[in-house]
Amino acid sequence: MSLINRDAQVIWHPYTQMKNHLPHVPIVRGEGVYLFDEKGKKYIDAVSSWWVNIHGHAHPHIAAKVAEQLNTLEHVIFAGFTHEPAVRLAERLLPLLPGVQKKVFYSDNGSTAVEVALKMCLQYWVNTTKEPRTKIIAFKDAYHGDTFGAMSVSGRSIFTEPFSPLLFDVEFVELPNAQNIEQLKSKINYLSNEVACFIFEPMVLGAGGMLMYEAIYLDQLIETCQKHGILTIADEVMTGFGRTGKYFSTEALQTEPDIFCLSKGLTGGTMPLGVTTCNSKIFNAFLSDDKLKTLYHGHSFTANPVACAAALASLDILLQPETLQNIKRIESRHQVFSESIIGHPKLKNVRQNGTILVMEWQTEGDTSYLNGLRDRLYLYFLERGIILRPLGNILYILPPYVISDEDLAYIYQNILTALEEI
Ligand SMILES: *Cc1c(COP(=O)(O)O)cnc(C)c1O
Repeated sequence: MSLINRDAQVIWHPYTQMKNHLPHVPIVRGEGVYLFDEKGKKYIDAVSSWWVNIHGHAHPHIAAKVAEQLNTLEHVIFAGFTHEPAVRLAERLLPLLPGVQKKVFYSDNGSTAVEVALKMCLQYWVNTTKEPRTKIIAFKDAYHGDTFGAMSVSGRSIFTEPFSPLLFDVEFVELPNAQNIEQLKSKINYLSNEVACFIFEPMVLGAGGMLMYEAIYLDQLIETCQKHGILTIADEVMTGFGRTGKYFSTEALQTEPDIFCLSKGLTGGTMPLGVTTCNSKIFNAFLSDDKLKTLYHGHSFTANPVACAAALASLDILLQPETLQNIKRIESRHQVFSESIIGHPKLKNVRQNGTILVMEWQTEGDTSYLNGLRDRLYLYFLERGIILRPLGNILYILPPYVISDEDLAYIYQNILTALEEI
């Protein structure tokens, strides 16, 4: 039996209607920006395998470090025990983050990093006041993950619909701009004493449709929060590790968030690992002789040494000058191409932040995730050996930083023909 048929017998895929889905491509090997299927067909991974892969597939440096760690210590319980890769990774990560981040709390993925951040904030208020705050502010089109807490602070959509009665109440606000910023600030001022925290994706909202907004307005929202003691969480799960042209998207801010959530690119896309960092204000609120003030949270694989080794190896590569040069090169190639398609009659909007280039297709009627245009675009590029997975009518390129100019040109060329043919 072929892999596709065996898969169909036993596998339930994520975000997939299993009754009438497109065929799953059987991938046997990866190298750099390329993935190879069973028949040897080559695909350019232009979405970095769900935004996680930053240095290319099967990177030899990461592979070597992971193998070395596997042969030394594969895992150890992280309560009551510690190990070099976890400590070293925290030592290297904290100074890289904007502001003064003091501690790293490990978990398994982006959603759990968000859960930990929310629990830190909510318990901060339990630990420090008699009347704890429980309200959370988030963006209307935010995406923070698929577990219940992360889902609750994500925008309501078809993904969250079946669970909506069980999601906790969140104050959703529009993305800030020149027109509405004063109104948003008034809203925060009005709610001030009830709000525990404000969680946001800095400058680019990923799964919500690669929506973008400006740092100056986020600064004003954070400043308003800080005036009322409202804690701020920067969810850099997608934007972190160079994606927006800087190591972290929040480097564009003047203000300092209290908490950061990291995952996806953290291990270079090799292994699952989540990180929640916080400043001393948060950490100190949990220091007490009262056991009730402890953060009682942990996962079986917390700070897995192999995942930490992958993250350390990925950082080695990220911090090489060549990587930043690659990021800048992609950024400028994107810019030149976007200038050539801005105003195209089939496109509603073209936007870019760092290595992310977004083309919003004109549609009639339904522009949601269920739009048939999405599948037509997806298949068009797949046939041509390019993996692009539009979010509804929103086509975007989000490549590993090692992508060559030739491969970028090939993708752009196919987008131009798609604009004619679809
Ligand atoms: C993907 C994503 C998450 C969730 O991460 P998972 O590892 O898929 O659980 C959270 N926040 C943002 C901004 C994301 O893009």
